[in-house]
Amino acid sequence: MILSQDGFQLELIHLRNQTLQPGQFLIKQDVYQSVKDRAKKRGRRVLGIFHSHPIGEAIPGPGDIKSATSGSLMLIYDVCGREAKLWKIRKLRGHRRAAELVLDTSEEAVAKLPRAADK
Ligand SMILES: [Zn+2]
Repeated sequence: MILSQDGFQLELIHLRNQTLQPGQFLIKQDVYQSVKDRAKKRGRRVLGIFHSHPIGEAIPGPGDIKSATSGSLMLIYDVCGREAKLWKIRKLRGHRRAAELVLDTSEEAVAKLPRAADK
C-alpha cells in the first residue's frame, strides 16, 4: 500500500498477496482497514496501492483499473523492465481511467528528502 504524510513523499508498505491465483493480487478488506488505521495513528494517509507486473509493462490493466478506488494512486513495478510508473485513477464520464503521474526518483529529489533521523 502507498502511504504519505505530506502527499509528496511516498512510503510503501509491503503486504502478502492474499490470492493464490496466478497473475492476480488481492488485499483483503480487513487487512486494508488495519493498515489504514495504523497509518492514521502515525499521521499518514493511504493514497493507494502498489504491485508488480512480473511479465508486463508498468501499465494498469483493465482488472487493475476496475478494482481501484477513484482518486487513488497506483504504483506498478515492471519486474523485467525494472521500471516503476505511478498512476492516478480517476473517474471520467462514468468510467475509471488511469493517468500517469511523474515519479521523480532522481538523485536530486531523493537527496532533498528528510532522512529517517530527521523525522
Ligand atoms: Zn496490475
